[in-house]
Amino acid sequence: MSTPLKLRFFNTLTRRKELFLPVGKTVKLYTCGPTVYNYAHIGNLRTYIFEDVLRRALEFAGYRVRHAMNITDVGHLTSDADEGEDKLQRQAERERKTAWDIAAFYARAFEQDAKALNILPPHIVVRATDAIPEQISLIQKLEKKGLTYRTSDGVYYDTSRFKGYGKLARLNVRGQKAGARVEENREKRNPTDFALWKFSPTGKKRDMEWESPWGRGFPGWHVECSAISMSALKTSTLDIHTGGIDHIPVHHTNEIAQSEAATGKPFARMWMHGAFLVLRDAKMAKSAGNFVTLESLKAEGLDPLDYRFFLFQTHYRQTLTFSFDAVRSARVGLVKLRETIHRLEHYTQHGENATLERSMSKVQGQAHQAIEDDLNIPKLIAALFAFATILNSAMDQERNIPRAAALALFHEYDKLLAVDLFRKKIAIPAEIQELAEQRQNARKKRNFAEADHLRNEIHAHGWLVKDTPEGTKIHRKES
Ligand SMILES: [Zn+2]
Repeated sequence: MSTPLKLRFFNTLTRRKELFLPVGKTVKLYTCGPTVYNYAHIGNLRTYIFEDVLRRALEFAGYRVRHAMNITDVGHLTSDADEGEDKLQRQAERERKTAWDIAAFYARAFEQDAKALNILPPHIVVRATDAIPEQISLIQKLEKKGLTYRTSDGVYYDTSRFKGYGKLARLNVRGQKAGARVEENREKRNPTDFALWKFSPTGKKRDMEWESPWGRGFPGWHVECSAISMSALKTSTLDIHTGGIDHIPVHHTNEIAQSEAATGKPFARMWMHGAFLVLRDAKMAKSAGNFVTLESLKAEGLDPLDYRFFLFQTHYRQTLTFSFDAVRSARVGLVKLRETIHRLEHYTQHGENATLERSMSKVQGQAHQAIEDDLNIPKLIAALFAFATILNSAMDQERNIPRAAALALFHEYDKLLAVDLFRKKIAIPAEIQELAEQRQNARKKRNFAEADHLRNEIHAHGWLVKDTPEGTKIHRKES
């Protein structure tokens, strides 16, 4: 890259945009991973895409990045207030499997979703169940400092003993105490206290449980992120810690309390949070059952990268309303960019007369400014659209253009966007066309059994057929 970028990010901790400067040569980035008791919904995936773009932007700016993520396969309870059942254990009982099977299955599903969305795999991925000793040792450190207490169901963190508790969320802890609802757990000293270690229930064998200095049980959800981030990245102070905004008041607040009390050092220099994806007026949530998965998008004939591109129309800190139609309209823009590139690749001219160099450097300037300004991807996309328009009109007029340089520019930004701008249009094979026509005829004759049979055959060849008001559409099934 010609000029080094000066990245500025919005830091939730200070509520300001700040110039990003890592402590060492390598950026230590930690992102909270999925709780693998069900499929990820596309709201969850929005957060992972924001984090992927963040990592790519850091690399784009010339940094080396070390990215670590946990996988929560134990200890995440159904209520954020550390009450209720373990989500994995509950799902295991529902599906009549073990919690281990549930974790393995949904972790794999998450990996596949991430791959389909061009999300780079983190350099280090650690399952909570693979970091039990690290979590126990962190709890012991807190215990030695007198910050913990035991109740009948576990070991808890006394949040009143940590100065600055709630600073990330700017919680008014005192106010919260006065107005707190009646806590389900009456043994807790403060409403904000949370479990570090939970005891296995007596008379019930859990699939996942371990011996500890306090008794048999399992770690709390928050402690895993503190233990895993610091051990995986070999540091007490992370450069950037990210997650969804829903993590600010409880999960990240508790991570800070644990980590800073244990090490005496700031836990993360920069906290970055992605906003929600909403369905009309409701937040998409697995617990509320109103969730759309990547599979639901594919069933609508949409490509996972159409969704990725749709997200880029809105800044990561702004709430985004989802609808299938909104993704479809975003796709029109993506197709326009791909078609421009395709046209450019096949454009013949007599020489490389660089008449468009000024508009190219303008695009580059706008794009770099957009990336520097708290990852303003919508602005970057707008600059690329403007450039595509200029190129198309130049090609319409059969002017000479700096073709190689223009293609290189798209290549460069596609490393950051990762929406396969250079993807070729996929032609529908003749045999599939043939089957689709036969199916149409069967439908006209109201022979629906035959039509369904043909649909299955098309499906077996890796294609999806969908009837829309504009007619029948055929799409390739994403693997
Ligand atoms: Zn976390």
